[in-house]
Amino acid sequence: MSELTDLGVKAIRDGVAGGEFSAREVAEAFNAAVAGAAQLNAFIVTTPEHALAAAHATDAARAGGKPLGKLAGVPIGMKDLFATRGVQTTAASHILEGFKPEYESTVSQKLWDAGAGMLGKLNLDQFAMGSSNETSYFGNVSSPWRKAGSNAALAPGGSSGGSSAAVAARIAPAATGTDTGGSIRQPAAFTGISGIKPTYGRCSRWGIVAFASSLDQAGPMARSVEDCAIMLEAMAGFDPKDSTSLDMAVPEWSASLDANLTGKRVGIPREYRMDGTDAEILKSWDDGIAWLKDAGAEVIDVSLPHTQYALPAYYIIAPAEASSNLARYDGVRYGLRELPQGANLQDMYAATRAAGFGDEVKRRILIGTYVLSAGFYDAYYTQAQKVRALIARDFAEAWAQCDVLLAPTTPTASFALGDKVDDPLAMYLNDVFSVPASLAGLPAMSVPAGLNGDGLPLGLQVIGRPFDEQGVLNAGLAIEQRAGFVARPEKWW
Ligand code: GLN
Repeated sequence: MSELTDLGVKAIRDGVAGGEFSAREVAEAFNAAVAGAAQLNAFIVTTPEHALAAAHATDAARAGGKPLGKLAGVPIGMKDLFATRGVQTTAASHILEGFKPEYESTVSQKLWDAGAGMLGKLNLDQFAMGSSNETSYFGNVSSPWRKAGSNAALAPGGSSGGSSAAVAARIAPAATGTDTGGSIRQPAAFTGISGIKPTYGRCSRWGIVAFASSLDQAGPMARSVEDCAIMLEAMAGFDPKDSTSLDMAVPEWSASLDANLTGKRVGIPREYRMDGTDAEILKSWDDGIAWLKDAGAEVIDVSLPHTQYALPAYYIIAPAEASSNLARYDGVRYGLRELPQGANLQDMYAATRAAGFGDEVKRRILIGTYVLSAGFYDAYYTQAQKVRALIARDFAEAWAQCDVLLAPTTPTASFALGDKVDDPLAMYLNDVFSVPASLAGLPAMSVPAGLNGDGLPLGLQVIGRPFDEQGVLNAGLAIEQRAGFVARPEKWW
């Protein structure tokens, strides 16, 4: 038998249910793998006791002949943006250091209810703002991947970079992510794993540290499309505690997976062929087109004419919402409090926020308050909202012609840590292919497509109609089966 840590979600669940190994053995194997991978800095805190307790409950239920949950025996990593009762929840910021919530986020609770256990809280870009995991107060995350012939540390993507690094390194079979403008898809693409952002509203935002509330969505990151489908089934569902939660039944996506795309139409958005896109990315896009044709789909050209305005609109709307959401961190209610000698209330707010927020977070708050200020609101915020409506309309018109869209996930493969950290615009460009689907609230996933000439993973993105996660997963599966992606990072940590 292969090592337990090589197994994915379904293989672990079925192996535990079938008595091939115990949930305790699985939890111990992953706890040890996590402990041995400190150099990746993927976790902010580890919770081996949580993983063991869940495993014990699964083993006991099985021994007692009780029904097992969808994720019984599967230990996972939890992005440190989800509130976990009694376990430090920081959003990778200093301002929340030491904060132990009194409550559990809806999504994490659903995962525990399905039998999953928690290996620990995963590192991320601070408040989920970033594309390389270099804005965390708790240090950079290293991708487990390295360029052929180089030892330079590479970005695991962001903001769910601890999640992507952990799953790619096989120290977790799966992890949660959140995606506001690409933070599940881009890190998945950088590390050769899969990840899906469902339709906005599928997963409850309750208990997830808010970044940009009209965009934030949780989703799974794992090493196969099927594992993503299984995990998403456990995470999704109506929650009366989130006013934007979708009151719709959660389909059995994993049971309906079907890579035969006969009768389906795949749109290729012309405007995504942008100047500056890496030639190898364009080549992998052509591979993807050929694979989907081979799966029976008809491939057609479509136009999303407002694509070029998506990134600027996102970098107005997301900071605007963030500046409002982050007003709550004031030194009174959570975590850090800086109280200089003789300080009044205003001084305390200022000192706490100056010490507690990192530079990128401050940049977003400044941009956000600026675009919402009385003199500039119409010029920036209102305008960006109009652009958002046009982008959503572009997609709605495309759905008259096709069932899913295929595009690259990112304009480049992973880059070295430090390469873009001083150039915010270069960093923001990472999101150019991912933010349009976010602005339109659509389900979108990244699946591995192959390796580039440097031996680094590339991802392909499938975008679907609202609520059609099944269509996205099916096209993802068709790609997965043809890409035959089996590469894994060589262990150096
Ligand atoms: N990289 C994007 C940003 O920095 C997206 C982040 C996210 O999806 N959380 O805003």
